[in-house]
Amino acid sequence: MKIAMIGTGYVGLVSGVCFSDFGHEVVCVDKDSRKIEMLERGEVPIYEPGLETLLAKNVDAGRLSFTGDIAVAIDGADAVFIAVGTPTRRGDGHADLTYVMAAAEEIAKAADHYIVVVTKSTVPVGTNAKVRDTMAAANPDLEFDVASNPEFLREGAAIDDFMKPDRVVVGVESERAGRVMEEIYRPLYLRDFPIVVTDLESAEMIKYAANAFLATKITFINEIAALCEKVGADVKQVSKGMGLDGRIGKTFLHAGPGYGGSCFPKDTKALARIGQDHAMPMQITEAVIKINDEVKRRMVDKLLDLSDGSFNNRKIAVLGVTFKPNTDDMRDAPSLTIIPAMVGGGAKVSVVDPQGRREGEALLPGVTWESDPYVAAKDADLLVILTEWNEFRALDLKQIANGMNTPRLGDLRNIYSAEDAREAGFEAYSAIGRPGYP
Ligand code: NAD
Repeated sequence: MKIAMIGTGYVGLVSGVCFSDFGHEVVCVDKDSRKIEMLERGEVPIYEPGLETLLAKNVDAGRLSFTGDIAVAIDGADAVFIAVGTPTRRGDGHADLTYVMAAAEEIAKAADHYIVVVTKSTVPVGTNAKVRDTMAAANPDLEFDVASNPEFLREGAAIDDFMKPDRVVVGVESERAGRVMEEIYRPLYLRDFPIVVTDLESAEMIKYAANAFLATKITFINEIAALCEKVGADVKQVSKGMGLDGRIGKTFLHAGPGYGGSCFPKDTKALARIGQDHAMPMQITEAVIKINDEVKRRMVDKLLDLSDGSFNNRKIAVLGVTFKPNTDDMRDAPSLTIIPAMVGGGAKVSVVDPQGRREGEALLPGVTWESDPYVAAKDADLLVILTEWNEFRALDLKQIANGMNTPRLGDLRNIYSAEDAREAGFEAYSAIGRPGYP
């Protein structure tokens, strides 16, 4: 198959590279010329483990190339994937479809043969029908089909998720498009990964329903964690006891500083908005959005408590700013709420993150960037763990506490315990939903 991939972000680039690794001929397009120039030099514009090696392998094999020109990419292509951003539209919470529709129109104008236009971006129900109408209006003579193929990969484990998915969802409305999609995903069919074939609307809905459910699971355990703190229970034990129940499952039950990232915040808001538009309010999702905002604010109060009620002139070291480990993505990260609150309160904040600096520098003004947790924590009044990168999981806490002015630890990912902190010489420790001191 010959495939064009529009958008070389976290989803488009990973999908393009993996499809080429399946053996397809893939041309990736982006309108950001900086990204295309980097990719042509063999550099990867984002941080995603394993991506650079797999990209180089497929470029060398002659199956993968990059261009800024959609017409070049779709020349002779069997399918073109739209993998552009669908951020929250300013003001109303809807998914902003400007980039998707612009791509659809560009495809229609450039195409001169039958092609399947596949929406990989996360889009509200009805968008594929709109893509179809937009394309038909832009090029009435073009023969094409639309297909919905939402993506479920996780940043940080994207290649594995793409190559070994729990399932692939494909929404189609013609047999011809179904056959093209089957051919594209043939390597996964052959290895018996479940492929769920649906109508367009159901495929679109599956993606929002899945993300809203996962956001709900995280928010549920965060709320339970808040209650654990009041009643003296330990949320780590509670989630273990809950998660071993096969009906519940143990993933997405780790209490933390609130969900963030490029998907859950915007997708929950979009689903809530779709519900409102259809007079069918998504009450659970609306509550989840509200509670998640409160969780982030509660984190600020927790750190304020550890700072005796004021951030003013406190030296605070923060470990981790990306929304989760193994990515450089800072979109809607809890750090973007918590760190500005500390800086705004007069704290001198130093920050360490293995990959977050490039994005984070512009987003977190007024902080000092360090590369070594021990240097960042030197003479600090408070150490805060915000993202559970592996590098922060086995710190020499004794050495850190010894170097601090007032050794206090805010462990917002529960990677240490009160005993660890006490043994290391910390005078105060606060975690999420489990005992701390003093
Ligand atoms: P991104 O912002 O990282 O990348 C989007 C890319 O599209 C950018 O490089 C942009 O320059 C390019 N682009 C926009 N319009 C274009 C056009 N007309 N022609 C060529 N290029 C164009 O976005 P992302 O994180 O990869 O997300 C893409 C979609 O996938 C979103 O709808 C998102 O919700 C969904 N999704 C994301 C993830 C994730 O983990 N990031 C997971 C599943 C689904």
